[in-house]
Amino acid sequence: MTFDSTVFCGECVHCKRGDVNLCDNRQVLGVSCGDYRRHGAFAEFVTVPAGSSINFPPNSVSPKPR
Ligand SMILES: [Zn+2]
Repeated sequence: MTFDSTVFCGECVHCKRGDVNLCDNRQVLGVSCGDYRRHGAFAEFVTVPAGSSINFPPNSVSPKPR
């Protein structure tokens, strides 16, 4: 599983157009500038909205180099 680090509101004009990277209320996990700051990138576990998560198909990722 991985995730898109941009957390968006889903309500503003940009989100409704599908341009969530331009969301007026966006936060970005691990970004340190004040406008978009969302803490958590150095944590062992983080929570993200379900819509931001991306699941890999079973057996598609190997922990060993190929
Ligand atoms: Zn938005």
